[in-house]
Amino acid sequence: MTELTGSATDRLYTEFRGQLISPGDDEYDAARQVWNGAIDRRPALIARPSGTRDVATAVRFAREQHLPVSVRGGGHSAAGHAVADGALTLDLSGMKSILIDPATRTAVAGPGLVWRELDAATQAYGLATTGGVDGTTGIAGLTLGGGLGWLDRLAGLACDNLLGAEVVTADGQVLEASTDDHSDLFWALRGGGGNFGVVTSLTYRLHPVTEVYGGLLGYTVDRATEVLQAYREIGADAPDRLALYAGLVTAPAAPFVPEHLRGQRVVGLIPVYFGAAEEAARALAPLLAAAPPVLDLAKPMSYQEAQRLTDGLNPPGMHRMGADRPSGGSARLGRRRLRQLHRRRPGPGPGARGVRRQLRKAGPDQGRLRPGQLLPHQQQHPARGPGASAGCGRKLSRDG
Ligand SMILES: Cc1cc2nc3c(=O)[nH]c(=O)nc-3n(C[C@H](O)[C@H](O)[C@H](O)COP(=O)(O)OP(=O)(O)OC[C@H]3O[C@@H](n4cnc5c(N)ncnc54)[C@H](O)[C@@H]3O)c2cc1C
Repeated sequence: MTELTGSATDRLYTEFRGQLISPGDDEYDAARQVWNGAIDRRPALIARPSGTRDVATAVRFAREQHLPVSVRGGGHSAAGHAVADGALTLDLSGMKSILIDPATRTAVAGPGLVWRELDAATQAYGLATTGGVDGTTGIAGLTLGGGLGWLDRLAGLACDNLLGAEVVTADGQVLEASTDDHSDLFWALRGGGGNFGVVTSLTYRLHPVTEVYGGLLGYTVDRATEVLQAYREIGADAPDRLALYAGLVTAPAAPFVPEHLRGQRVVGLIPVYFGAAEEAARALAPLLAAAPPVLDLAKPMSYQEAQRLTDGLNPPGMHRMGADRPSGGSARLGRRRLRQLHRRRPGPGPGARGVRRQLRKAGPDQGRLRPGQLLPHQQQHPARGPGASAGCGRKLSRDG
């Protein structure tokens, strides 16, 4: 393992205002854990910055020491990119500042926030931006990688709502990136992941979100093909206010699940409608007529409740990742693919509690885009044409 010694290290300990954790420190083993329990990596040093200046100090130190750098926000990267053997891990989870401006409908958020924290702050003003469906996912990693969520059909992906970012670059400079400043860098940040610098602040566009209607619709697995066909056909023409997820799951032993279905293979649809209950009923009527559920838990709820609908399905410490692919091409999900999904459904057994096959109805423009076609902001980059997508378009892959 890389051992850090010498005057540069002493200087870091003097200049750095946050917390530094080394192998051998009591907190080291807990600090190197990430969401995926299969990841067991040993960074040379874990730095928890108190702010942007600390991030720049740590990046310059890593450069001098020829240390690789990994960045940790919420720690949800399934591949464990937040930690690397022998690297300097920049753990930004303590950087949780939030500033909401209801007048301009914007939020300036720290990279250590997770979605449930940002949602709570924005919902205090009846506002929200597209965020992940698991409350403990980091806002920075999700946004920089594109970012799917219940709101994406109505409001675009998380990266579509990123208006600006403060970034520490590999040479330790602090830059503001937006469509006006360092626009190339800004373009790359919206979908390019953590490859272009350490983001120390994110500015989001917010949308009014007050009335939400949603919840689980459950079906026995023998109806999987019929239900997924209804999902495909009705989802294709659904209004942008309706987000619809489908999953093949093993029903948990939860109070809301009828006893005879617990531990059984079931098909679940989760509609989330952004609007009043009566409008939601109209939007959902064709689906309910085509595939009447045995369990209907849909009801009016707050946005924060909707954001918690699938919480707990993928708890931290799991040793694997379930299939979770955006399904922009759900309209093209053919009978063969449906039959394959049906056959590969999960069964009861150890670790079989979570979603194993999950389909998502992708966003508004995304659903209507032809492969290779770009969203307006993606077209701003001069070097970019169809097929050169590193921005939000990276998420527009077709499934099925
Ligand atoms: C249970 C679960 C649910 C999920 N749900 C969704 C979902 O609903 N929608 C969706 O789109 N994705 C979802 N994902 C995928 C998730 O968005 C990505 O794994 C994302 O990278 C996680 O971000 P993080 O900050 O939590 O992860 P981390 O592991 O902390 O970071 C992952 C990588 O992102 C980059 N990064 C993070 N923060 C910064 C920063 N401040 N500056 C520069 N680079 C940074 C770095 O490369 C870092 O290694 C989910 C993942 C899990 C495990």
